[in-house]
Amino acid sequence: MTTEATASRPTAASAALFERARAVTPGGVNSPVRAFNAVGGTPRFIRSAAGAWLTDVDGNEYVDLICSWGPMLLGHAHPEVQAAVAAAVARGTSYGTPTEPEVELAEEIVDRAPVEKVRFVSSGTEATMSAIRLARGFTGRDVVVKFAGCYHGHVDSLLASAGSGLATFAVPGTPGVPESSTALTLVLPYNDRAAVERVFVEHGPRIACLITEAAPGNMGVVPPEPGFNAFLAETCRTHGALFVSDEVMTGFRASRHGQWGLDGAVEGWRPDLVTFGKVMGGGFPAAAFGGRADVMSRLSPEGPVYQAGTLSGNPIATTAGLTTLRLATDEVYAHIDAAGETIKAAAVEALSAAGVPHVVQATGTMFSVFFTDPALGAVRDFEDASRTDSTAYAAFFHAMLDRQVYLPPSAYEAWFLSSAHDDRAVQTVLDALPHAARAAA
Ligand code: PLP
Repeated sequence: MTTEATASRPTAASAALFERARAVTPGGVNSPVRAFNAVGGTPRFIRSAAGAWLTDVDGNEYVDLICSWGPMLLGHAHPEVQAAVAAAVARGTSYGTPTEPEVELAEEIVDRAPVEKVRFVSSGTEATMSAIRLARGFTGRDVVVKFAGCYHGHVDSLLASAGSGLATFAVPGTPGVPESSTALTLVLPYNDRAAVERVFVEHGPRIACLITEAAPGNMGVVPPEPGFNAFLAETCRTHGALFVSDEVMTGFRASRHGQWGLDGAVEGWRPDLVTFGKVMGGGFPAAAFGGRADVMSRLSPEGPVYQAGTLSGNPIATTAGLTTLRLATDEVYAHIDAAGETIKAAAVEALSAAGVPHVVQATGTMFSVFFTDPALGAVRDFEDASRTDSTAYAAFFHAMLDRQVYLPPSAYEAWFLSSAHDDRAVQTVLDALPHAARAAA
């Protein structure tokens, strides 16, 4: 690592806010990764954002490659989304009654995704938690299968690490989750068909559902190997379990129809339940779960499985989501795809020139850069992803930040783009990459 990249931008205002924040909030942040723990240094406190750019409280401007961890598909402060939200706010912010935007957003989602009915909630965590309850209620079974490295929000039973053997039940992944909460969770290596077959042979009649990120993006982007999701859907069907596809990150992001648009729609299968969040909330707290009508109709008040929420389907959030999805045309995805291709190619060129080992992986418009040895092959699962050189990434990250590019402050995240990432924004990233690559060498 060289010292080429130094913190040359003013950070006094962010540092002062961080100190105040730490006095009143654990770690000074409201979601851990924002604290820069993985990369060190002062998190930049953002004052405003427009298009592809963030402005921090010290007046620095950055090209945003976080995009709020996925939601901002159209960039920040999109004028049409803002106008729709402003008009909705003027009509009042929450009624606790059914509203028209909820119906319209549900129709839009049913139109794009492999679901017949949806129920709105306020976060991706709530969506996966509710989908699992519904799967258990529908099947009358109790066991849940998940993959190591797939994140489904901070649901107790899903904050689980693999137990001592492949087909044994999981142990809590964090203090605060009792063993009883993970005692019905099985954790398998991703992309491993044999492991899936084995747990279904051993535990099949007890398995309520298998939940997977439709394409994992929370250990970096690890695409499902060809046919893997189809295999999961078929295995679940054979054993009477539900296949829950978590599209909170990939939904309306990897493609117009999410990850399913890249595999299920082409191969001709559908998941039983799907979870959504991020893009469908247009930057507001909105998420959803949906699926087969016969499964969804087991939900309260139609069926006996209880689920509810004071702010679920909030009119502001659903208006933002609806406006975003209506504006998310094929051209939007084509633009993001093209910008992503340009940045990926430049990252490969810069890292290769600097001699930094790397692997770039993508699914649709979503991609990430692993700081791992390409000689070891593609990153297929969490064990592979864990080989990422986080120290090299930290040096790379800070050199990018110094050159006005705000990457995710963790080596295990996707780099997100938006339709607002125009030539100037992309060029800023391209100009920064060679310096950052040298800093990481
Ligand atoms: N599922 C996936 C695939 C996610 O990426 C996330 C969040 O990053 C969640 C669920 C949880 O969503 P939220 O943070 O809105 O609770």
